[in-house]
Amino acid sequence: MRTDLAVIGAGPAGLAASLAAAARGVRVALVDAAPEPGGQFHRQPAAGLRARRPEALHHQWRTWIRLRDGLAASSVRLLAEHHVWCVERTSDGLTVHALLGPDEEEPAEVHATAVLLATGGYETVLPFPGWTLPGVVTAGGAQAMLKGGLVVPGPTAVVAGTGPLLLPVATGLAAAGVQVAALVESAGPGRLPRHVRSLAGKFPEGAGYAARLLRHRVPFLARHTVVRAHGDDRLTGVTVAALDAHGRVRPGTERHLPCDTLAVGHGMLPHTDLAEGLGCRLDGLTVAVDGEQRTDVPGVWAAGEATGVGGAALALAEGHIAGRSIAARLRGTAPDPGQWAPAARARARMRRSAAALDAVYAPPARWTDRVTDDTVVCRCEEVTAGAVREALTLGAGDARTVKLLTRAGMGWCQGRMCGPAVAGLAGCGPTPSRRPFARPVPLGVLAEQHTEEGHS
Ligand SMILES: Cc1cc2nc3c(=O)[nH]c(=O)nc-3n(C[C@H](O)[C@H](O)[C@H](O)COP(=O)(O)OP(=O)(O)OC[C@H]3O[C@@H](n4cnc5c(N)ncnc54)[C@H](O)[C@@H]3O)c2cc1C
Repeated sequence: MRTDLAVIGAGPAGLAASLAAAARGVRVALVDAAPEPGGQFHRQPAAGLRARRPEALHHQWRTWIRLRDGLAASSVRLLAEHHVWCVERTSDGLTVHALLGPDEEEPAEVHATAVLLATGGYETVLPFPGWTLPGVVTAGGAQAMLKGGLVVPGPTAVVAGTGPLLLPVATGLAAAGVQVAALVESAGPGRLPRHVRSLAGKFPEGAGYAARLLRHRVPFLARHTVVRAHGDDRLTGVTVAALDAHGRVRPGTERHLPCDTLAVGHGMLPHTDLAEGLGCRLDGLTVAVDGEQRTDVPGVWAAGEATGVGGAALALAEGHIAGRSIAARLRGTAPDPGQWAPAARARARMRRSAAALDAVYAPPARWTDRVTDDTVVCRCEEVTAGAVREALTLGAGDARTVKLLTRAGMGWCQGRMCGPAVAGLAGCGPTPSRRPFARPVPLGVLAEQHTEEGHS
């Protein structure tokens, strides 16, 4: 199909952009891998589950209703269950390549004059002994089970790691009837005073979560970490311990918490594969954009977590700005930023608080000390921390060389899970991975492309 604008990602950023652009006469195709729009924050239960009160599991329900009803009333064409593996520049614009169907094998293409990358982010989980046991899930995964499947991962949970996502996960599980034995946060309150100004707007939200934790009697263990998950066939409990100011376990503070579920997360990383494939400039690990949310590749915009992790409200503001900018640029005019000044002010404020949250919730220092040699680091290729360390002694100085020597990062997820862990063990910061495709692509689909190109 041919359209003016292809938006990839139907989360808050993609929805806001689609509505803003369509309202200004742009033909929009909104492409998403999920069966329903909403993205991570507004993830909806499958229609077949007939949820009677889905709003009970959500924050900012009214925002979702506005987006959902706006989409239904708009001319935006929603292309659900389209898994985009690549966006390509062509002589007459941009081509979005997707795979359809449950097996993701049927190819589909969208030809567009402009593309907005609103692909969101994904969770980081750092390894520790026992983290591959059944019963250990990611914090966002536990929340996705609850919001999307209306199920809880188990009757007794510990929520652990670091970052603001742990708060809605712990309170959401507790409200759904899970006994949350503890929220274990490795960050301490020590860094907060330095960021009071930037975080002032977040305090009411934080107070709300604190009240909910109290109401559900969830113990909050700040500056603590899970040092080991226990169990033979599945999780039976975890050992938690207090951390000192240098991120080392304080001797004698270890204690055992029985649980059948550990929901764990250590922050988020942006999805940048499609942007990298297009040759967009990155700023560290995020897609670099200007004040209009334009990347440095003509015709390509980016908004939401792909340009920096900062929450659903920031994604909405960025999407709105991108949609208005795209509408003006496609008409061949320069947009007037004054028309989106309130959104730009909100964006600046929320980016400041996102940077402050990043500083407060840095992953625990010295976490690698607690990763035993037999701990699996790369789950796809079953590479242990010992094998990674051996590669380092052989002279590997970066994650790429470790990958070549051990196969860590060569499996199905292409290093999305193990990348930060391997970088941490190698003592270097995480770097963009440069994956040629955002998704695994059947060879038949690639061969078909080649044949078509040969004939044209
Ligand atoms: C697992 C998880 C749980 C979260 N829970 C919370 C929470 O409880 N509270 C909170 O404040 N924040 C939460 N966040 C953060 C929150 O999701 C974001 O702040 C917000 O949703 C970002 O909006 P976005 O539009 O940038 O991306 P998202 O909402 O993540 O939307 C991105 C969309 O892009 C689609 N997509 C990505 N890649 C492709 C591709 N290659 N092809 C097709 N479609 C693609 C995805 O299916 C998704 O629908 C969570 C994040 C994650 C990863």
